[in-house]
Amino acid sequence: MKKTIFIRNISEDLMNFMKSDVEYDVIVVGAGCAGPAAAKKCAELGLKTLLIEKALDPGAKNVSGTCLNMAALGDTDLHYIMKCPIEREIHSMRTYHISEDRTTIFTEMPKEGVLLLSIRRDEFDKWHTEQARQAGAEIRLGTAVVDIIQENNTIRGVILESGEKLMCHVVIDGGGVNSIVGRKAGLIPKRSGKNMILYITAAVHLGEEIINERFKDEQGGCCIEYYLAPGTQYKTWPWIFPKKDTVTLGTGGYMTQELINDEFPTVEQYMRNFMNLPIIQKKLEGGKIESWGVHLEYDNKIEQKTKNGLILTGEAGGFVIPFLGEGMPEAFLTGIYAAKTAAACIKKGDVSQSALSEFYEDMIQENLFLQGFMYVGEENKKSILSKPDEEIVEMMQSVIMGGGFITNAVHTKWFKGVENGSIDEVEEAKTFLEFIQPYRQVSTDYMDIYREMRAQVNSNISEKSKNGSDEK
Ligand SMILES: Cc1cc2nc3c(=O)[nH]c(=O)nc-3n(C[C@H](O)[C@H](O)[C@H](O)COP(=O)(O)OP(=O)(O)OC[C@H]3O[C@@H](n4cnc5c(N)ncnc54)[C@H](O)[C@@H]3O)c2cc1C
Repeated sequence: MKKTIFIRNISEDLMNFMKSDVEYDVIVVGAGCAGPAAAKKCAELGLKTLLIEKALDPGAKNVSGTCLNMAALGDTDLHYIMKCPIEREIHSMRTYHISEDRTTIFTEMPKEGVLLLSIRRDEFDKWHTEQARQAGAEIRLGTAVVDIIQENNTIRGVILESGEKLMCHVVIDGGGVNSIVGRKAGLIPKRSGKNMILYITAAVHLGEEIINERFKDEQGGCCIEYYLAPGTQYKTWPWIFPKKDTVTLGTGGYMTQELINDEFPTVEQYMRNFMNLPIIQKKLEGGKIESWGVHLEYDNKIEQKTKNGLILTGEAGGFVIPFLGEGMPEAFLTGIYAAKTAAACIKKGDVSQSALSEFYEDMIQENLFLQGFMYVGEENKKSILSKPDEEIVEMMQSVIMGGGFITNAVHTKWFKGVENGSIDEVEEAKTFLEFIQPYRQVSTDYMDIYREMRAQVNSNISEKSKNGSDEK
């Protein structure tokens, strides 16, 4: 009885709030990957939208995340991302398995097409924020959100570092791995120091010609490279991603008790060991290190992603797969879904947790790409944490030989089921394979869309230069 009265009071209170004067329909926090996608979609849906970013230049400090998975961009909502500033098209993926007495190389190279788009976050985030501004969102840069305004268990706005208070119907949190909003709202649990990957990255300037030469593949395209070698990682995969005239290197360690213990090398040592491999020294010969950075990726599910008046997106909502080093498409998609959710719920006059969650979760559940990657993330996490390095190498090989992470995760589950005599596991793998089939079909069609989008970019550029305007 008491519970019923409580719910009615909150919902009456929310209804009154929806009718009251607020500055904005939606405030989006963070102009990384999820934030601009959310703000752009909110503005397109006619919502009065404010996007707040603490950095003066969006992306200036967002050095992570440099390869965009093309198959994910095949999603209709993400076609516009194909028009972003691109450093290079990546056509293939090469993995080096280095042991004491031999180096084995595996290459995954589709007959044609682009696997990944190599981008720079400082350029990309700026471009993406501009897309949100052009769609009609108001943008405030160089100001951090330091707190939320919370009344009667409902998020009603944010407080800026200047002390200014801004009210809105819905806050969308795109604040990334260190989100303040989700934490203050009690949705992001306290980090325990475990279940996270500590990454270290470095950018090395080599020049365009040298990169063309050292990272070319058999078809004359450019490839990204992964390395598995002793002493260079702890349950992650060191990589080199080519950009236009620099390459970025990364490696890291999964934070388990062993890594925290002194007997394990630090991640900085992993990077030194990686850079000291003879094959890497050759690749980087003559290069100049431009920057270093250390980044955290949390590997924990966020159980509740909505609250009255609040939606968590991107890494703030736990939408990232640290082992695959992938989170940008997940952030774009959840940002867009949060915007659609906010628009529908504001229109209905109900931004309660249950209303927001119903819309948001439905869209996430229906997206095959998101479901596929979350499944793969979980399966890979289980096997990587339980396997020694040699077996991880075997797994990587079967990933590459077996047609990618999704196929591998499904097959691993399938074979494990057979091995254990567990019909349930085999059934689960089979059901998932059937479910994911339409996504795998769509992913082969994205090249036509990509060519169309790039043609639009090129025609805009030539139009502008005909009119004599500045091109950047
Ligand atoms: C080393 C590394 C390599 C990676 N490589 C890839 C890759 O190749 N491909 C891929 O898909 N993913 C990659 N990822 C993952 C990807 O970078 C993230 O998943 C993605 O950036 C998450 O997007 P987001 O919008 O949630 O957060 P972010 O991109 O981190 O953006 C958060 C934004 O919020 C702003 N902000 C934070 N707090 C506040 C506040 N209080 N007030 C105002 N603004 C605030 C920040 O300044 C930032 O601009 C990588 C991650 C790491 C660590």
